[in-house]
Amino acid sequence: MEKASGSKFPKIVIIGGGFGGIELSKHLDDKPVDIVMLDKHNYHTFQPLLYQVATGGLEADSIAFPLRKIFEGQKNFKFRIAEVMKINPEKNSLDTTIGEVKYDYLVIATGSTTNFFGNKQTEHFSMPMKSIPEALNLRSMILQNLEEALLLGTKEEREPYLNFVVVGAGPTGVELSGAIAELRNHILHKDYPELNKDEMKVYLVEGLPKVLQVMSEQASAKSTEFLKELGVEVMTDTMVKGYNGKEIKFGDGKSIKTHNVIWSAGVMGQVIDGLPKEAIVKGNRIQTDDRNLITGQKNIYAIGDVAVVITEDTPKGHPGVAPVAMQQGTHLAKNFIKIINNEPTAPFKYFDKGSMATVGRNKAVVDIGKIRFQGFFAWLTWMFVHLMSLISFRNKVVVFINWIGSYFSYNGGARLIIRKFSREEIVETEHLPKADD
Ligand SMILES: Cc1cc2nc3c(=O)[nH]c(=O)nc-3n(C[C@H](O)[C@H](O)[C@H](O)COP(=O)(O)OP(=O)(O)OC[C@H]3O[C@@H](n4cnc5c(N)ncnc54)[C@H](O)[C@@H]3O)c2cc1C
Repeated sequence: MEKASGSKFPKIVIIGGGFGGIELSKHLDDKPVDIVMLDKHNYHTFQPLLYQVATGGLEADSIAFPLRKIFEGQKNFKFRIAEVMKINPEKNSLDTTIGEVKYDYLVIATGSTTNFFGNKQTEHFSMPMKSIPEALNLRSMILQNLEEALLLGTKEEREPYLNFVVVGAGPTGVELSGAIAELRNHILHKDYPELNKDEMKVYLVEGLPKVLQVMSEQASAKSTEFLKELGVEVMTDTMVKGYNGKEIKFGDGKSIKTHNVIWSAGVMGQVIDGLPKEAIVKGNRIQTDDRNLITGQKNIYAIGDVAVVITEDTPKGHPGVAPVAMQQGTHLAKNFIKIINNEPTAPFKYFDKGSMATVGRNKAVVDIGKIRFQGFFAWLTWMFVHLMSLISFRNKVVVFINWIGSYFSYNGGARLIIRKFSREEIVETEHLPKADD
């Protein structure tokens, strides 16, 4: 085959410098391939700690890391900031914001995005939290609404500014609602002594009968208990009907007046145009075989959150978590070497290391196989695993120092409104639906 790069080695283009894309590239170091990674950002985001950025516990740059720096010294690796708009499988090329890019092999590792299940008005008015810009918007919005509440004369006027509603009680919703409750419990009286703590309410809304549905019964029950201790009002079996920016309405007829709705109730694959529609399945994910090769394609692969490996053993695919993306990246690198050496490739098998979620500053729930534990030791485990998973030594140190400081002072200090939050601006720049769409 004539090589896309003009070099003697095949050119592998990877879209996405997330957990999957990074592991894949690292495991191809020194191998006879040319790698080009494209990402719309020049940094990797450690999404598990976004909620701490959103609530002013950590600065954004402690959970992000420049992609170029990760691959310093890797000779077969190039990085370009580019957004990929379209895949042209018949031409082995991509349409991107920096022009056409050719490939011999393509790997789609674009992750997932927030799913509002088609509710345009809710999408317009509520806040997602999947990226650093979104977490910073959320931080500004929370702080601006507290500032606004200070200026208002009556409890009724302040109510929508001080009601915080997190929708979706998966690990993200649980961690975020816990962190907002901690902000209320430990920070509000320091930063805003004029505001009454009892007026600030935190709700966690879930359509299913329990929180942390994906984890064990014990984890679910204990996290509910921990949330209640923090003062979070947990509303299970509650479906959101709609949100108009002032009031969120539920299926049972109840409603809450609020300017703060944070949506963590669903994700969907971040798919790029150009693939045949048979390859896109439930949850907007790209169907692949157990080698991560996309259905119907010869040289296009998908890994991580955007991919769904459907086999007899995994009829619904794997969970959308970082270890799946990392293990698929590592595995695909090994298979690429086999392909180049004309050896048979091996199927992907996921090794589930367990799941965990933290609730507040010193409690967590952990499920590792049949081992389940909750409370302070679980929180230490959660801290250790997250620290070790951060990309760089610098980030590990910065986050660790911040955590130690906040643990003793109850006052982690990244509560900055660097960019003023403006919904109109976000709707414009992110091409979100208009309020009346
Ligand atoms: C708030 C939150 C908390 C989480 N907590 C945990 C946790 O505690 N534990 C856990 O295991 N998992 C957690 N996850 C899930 C985990 O982050 C994902 O499973 C993981 O990031 C998936 O890796 P990926 O490589 O598939 O995609 P990502 O890491 O999302 O990377 C995708 C990359 O693709 C780029 N990209 C997307 N589209 C384009 C395009 N068109 N052109 C160019 N570049 C593009 C993006 O900029 C991004 O850098 C969390 C996720 C979120 C949002």
